[in-house]
Amino acid sequence: MTKLINGKEISASYRAELKEKIASLPVRPGLAVVLVGNDPASQVYVRNKSRACEEVGIYSEKYTLPEETTREQLLSLIAQLNESPAIHGILVQLPLPRHLDPEEVILAIDPRKDVDAFHPVNVGKIMIGNFDFLPCTPAGVMEMLRRSGIDPAGKECVVIGRSNIVGKPMAMLLLHANATVTVCHSKTRDLAAVCRRADILVSAVGKPRFVTADMVKEGAVVIDVGTNRDENGKLIGDVDFDAVSQKTSYISPVPGGVGPMTITMLLRNTVTAAEKIAAEQAKQG
Ligand code: NAP
Repeated sequence: MTKLINGKEISASYRAELKEKIASLPVRPGLAVVLVGNDPASQVYVRNKSRACEEVGIYSEKYTLPEETTREQLLSLIAQLNESPAIHGILVQLPLPRHLDPEEVILAIDPRKDVDAFHPVNVGKIMIGNFDFLPCTPAGVMEMLRRSGIDPAGKECVVIGRSNIVGKPMAMLLLHANATVTVCHSKTRDLAAVCRRADILVSAVGKPRFVTADMVKEGAVVIDVGTNRDENGKLIGDVDFDAVSQKTSYISPVPGGVGPMTITMLLRNTVTAAEKIAAEQAKQG
């Protein structure tokens, strides 16, 4: 029978551990979350992030800027947060309004405070396997595997999706964990056959019921990163859960899977940033 990888439960125990750790730190970690515009989904994400900070004892500042915020205004806020001693992590919620260039904005964040791990310096560090932060969603998936006793070493892992935020870093983390990794995308030929090779299949596509039972090997582990809305507005993943879970050894659901872990990894990165900045300051005297 398949086992459920319960991201909500794993997340709750991870946050309890973080809370204890934060209470014993010499510095209170601080996170600034910046939201530009009125995207309703982004508003929910930002609210959830601020709440999660509060839950574990991280200080947080929330900046809600109007849609018409200029490039100069946003860059000036980031410069101010880069200098702020109370802030160790800066997160600019994406997507930004069209007139703002996300690459320029990410580049403006001090890499030591880049808790999303989107800055090219951090992306490069992940590539060479010498990193401070891991991107939150793939890091959450790795933690779900680890805490379920699933070791990717030597396994065939297939990642569907090659975005900079999920697919590519996911593949890299699995590779660092000694898996044999295949990355699939919209131009992949015979996707179902490639997926059937997977001992561990990670789907990050963004299409409801995209992964069907015929794409999954008997006994495989399936992790569903997708977040989609069905015809009734209900949150669902990429995986046809009812059919696929008949074949898997482990499967993560949506909701209650990768989603809560993503925010938990953001909290972890903020704590890591605070520890590193405090250690640097102590060294400088
Ligand atoms: P994205 O940038 O849109 O990337 C989607 C990927 O899926 C692309 O690489 C695309 O291929 C591939 N794809 C699309 N159609 C395909 C097909 N027919 N066959 C094979 N591959 C196909 O999305 P993303 O930002 O990576 O996010 C993916 C999903 O994860 C979304 O549902 C998003 O909401 C969700 N997500 C969830 C969390 C969480 O915390 N749970 C966090 C981040 C994202 P091409 O590159 O060839 O176009």
